Amino acid sequence: MTGKHETIWFRLLWVTVVVTTSSLLATYGIMDWVFGIGGDKSYSGALVLQVGTVCSVVIPIILAPAVSYLPMRAQRDVERERIRLEKLALTDALTGLFNRRGFDLASGDFVARAQRRGDDMSLLMLDLDRFKLINDRHGHGFGDAALIRVADLLRRFRDVDGAIVARYGGEEFVCLVSASSERACVIAERLRSEISAANIVFGAERANISVSIGATTARAGEMPVEKMVEAADRALYDAKAAGRDRIVVTRAKAA
Ligand code: GH3
Ligand code: MG
Ligand code: MG
Repeated sequence: MTGKHETIWFRLLWVTVVVTTSSLLATYGIMDWVFGIGGDKSYSGALVLQVGTVCSVVIPIILAPAVSYLPMRAQRDVERERIRLEKLALTDALTGLFNRRGFDLASGDFVARAQRRGDDMSLLMLDLDRFKLINDRHGHGFGDAALIRVADLLRRFRDVDGAIVARYGGEEFVCLVSASSERACVIAERLRSEISAANIVFGAERANISVSIGATTARAGEMPVEKMVEAADRALYDAKAAGRDRIVVTRAKAA
């Protein structure tokens, strides 16, 4: 039996016992006070007491499930709604990936785990190339389809490598993974080639896109994730300046 069911049964039992006992005592007290049947040995006095006793046991037993279940159901619905809203606040509506806030929250746990294992961590910052031009040429709907496709590629990659991936801004994505600098290079190259090979289709429009990636590596806990984001962003800037559709990897330095 799960903990949740145990709680329900325990509360049911508890409510039944408390309500039955108090209603028995109340019935006897009221009967005695109104009819003075405490010392009444007559047939009618005994009958009133018997009927009162049976009612005070049976009625709470019938009502107990509703009395215990309804507040629990209301509590469960409130909790579900809270979780739904929390998830919504951490999720990017277009792609379903974490948004920046979701990333900030998830990366805390990720770093703590990596630190316990003494892992190297790599952070990849991806920015789609000339995306404004893509929108202008093929339309905003096509641009959205491209962002969704990139998110799908990142999600698949997340499921295999246990990375945290997020849409960090308009056409920027971020990926935090337990990996050495060499492994980060392999991952970044795989992502770059998968994205440029993806044929994006939206209505009659079809085209390929490319991405520039800046990556940085540090020992887990050596520096805050924000510092790694800054270093990866600088590497990304270099990748753009060097002609786009490429990767630049740098080792983050602790300040
Ligand atoms: P660069 O190669 O230097 O990164 O050039 P860029 O055009 O990609 O960069 P820029 O920052 O000039 O433009 C980013 C574009 O991304 C502009 C904006 O319209 C587009 N964009 C941002 N968010 C969305 C979105 O949710 N949907 C679509 N379709 N476009 C978006
Ligand atoms: Mg950008
Ligand atoms: Mg861009």
